[in-house]
Amino acid sequence: MISAEQALQLVLDAAQPRPPARVSLAESLGRVLGEDVASDVDSPPHDKSLVDGYAVSAGAFGGRAENRLVELAVIAQIAAGEMPVGKVARSTAVRVMTGAPIPEGADAVVMVEQAEWQDDPAGPLGVVRFPQGIQVTAGQNIMRRGASLRRGQVVLDCGISILPAQIGLLAEVGRADVAVVPPPQVAVLPTGDELVDVGFVPGPGKIRNSNGPMLISLARQAGAVVRDLGVGRDDYPQLAALVHQGLHADILITAGGVSAGVRDLVPQVLRKAGVAQVFHKVRLKPGKPLWFGVRRAGVEDQGEAASTLVFGLPGNPVSSFVCFHLFVAPAIARLAGHPRPTAMRVMGRLSDPFQQGADRATYHPAWMEHGDPHAVRLIPWRGSADLRALVDANALAVFPAENRSYQPGDPVECLLLPAGQNSIWSDQAVRRTL
Ligand code: AMP
Ligand code: MG
Repeated sequence: MISAEQALQLVLDAAQPRPPARVSLAESLGRVLGEDVASDVDSPPHDKSLVDGYAVSAGAFGGRAENRLVELAVIAQIAAGEMPVGKVARSTAVRVMTGAPIPEGADAVVMVEQAEWQDDPAGPLGVVRFPQGIQVTAGQNIMRRGASLRRGQVVLDCGISILPAQIGLLAEVGRADVAVVPPPQVAVLPTGDELVDVGFVPGPGKIRNSNGPMLISLARQAGAVVRDLGVGRDDYPQLAALVHQGLHADILITAGGVSAGVRDLVPQVLRKAGVAQVFHKVRLKPGKPLWFGVRRAGVEDQGEAASTLVFGLPGNPVSSFVCFHLFVAPAIARLAGHPRPTAMRVMGRLSDPFQQGADRATYHPAWMEHGDPHAVRLIPWRGSADLRALVDANALAVFPAENRSYQPGDPVECLLLPAGQNSIWSDQAVRRTL
């Protein structure tokens, strides 16, 4: 049986990023940029005022020792979006608004709050007086043309994630559309004769299908476009038909039916459908029965993805949750072009004792707190069917396969669950700590 690390490597080796496609700027949020983006403008496009004030020649204010009242004739006014008229001399000033171009002859802007304007026929727009001893230095309150970025300069590199700041910058450099790696399509197929839909009361021996809705939302949260295939039964022809539909997607996730039970049909149905097994079973707790394979589509498979990664997740909800975060989320991230597709791991210190065995690595629901060090509380957990424990978790504490008694205070690595109300970075997590 392979380790979780070996299994992850095999998954990532099989996952190739999708080719980039052009989308509108508004649709690019959360995608990975598929091209280098250069600016088509200087920013700012001209020397511009950073404040509302008076554009002046610093020389008009003399040196530091100067101790006199300076009075200048205001010859013009420029708002953002207007071009300068007139030239500033030592005896004159131009009123400028934030963002306005700096007129010729001016090399500083004095904030309007530091000046006193008077309606006076000495200047066409009155005169402005500055207090004694005011310091005016060349360049103050002016942003030079091209200081932020220059025309032709690459401002965003291929492979970065597009977040709101990147969208703002793309807009600034004129990119109404942009090449991005498209999100992968993920088909979700929970299986089991015992499953009833959420809208029904389970009869004798039945349980509700909790995995289906959870896996659909996990895949969406990971950035995929999801296709819900409904529930597969432990029935060969029905399962085969649904699997066939799922192979149109980039990733097919099944849940249940991969263990050693007589009705665990998923591996044989997948193999029959042309999915080549890469591994079955991982030294992992929970999640040992995980099955993974790849189907490469032939020329006759019109409309199907070039290849489909197939994850046969175990049926128990915590097992499938852990396997999703360890293997499926990285595959989705890799297909979506993310250069670092695996979840963030952070070291903390255990608050509780824990007994670990040598046969399998354990991923235990945990609550990691802010702090130095991060305290890690183990959530009381009754194993792979105990979904309740996950609701209180913001991390999975990782215990490698070895016989070891952990004591409070021992260092432990945690895999952080994605942002949300339980994220270690959420307000709620910080408040719980304080
Ligand atoms: P299996 O891997 O099919 O043997 O399922 C393992 C356990 O997970 C069984 O107790 C199933 O009833 C349970 N299970 C399987 N699929 C689901 C599901 N979609 N939702 C909730 N529990 C499930
Ligand atoms: Mg089953």
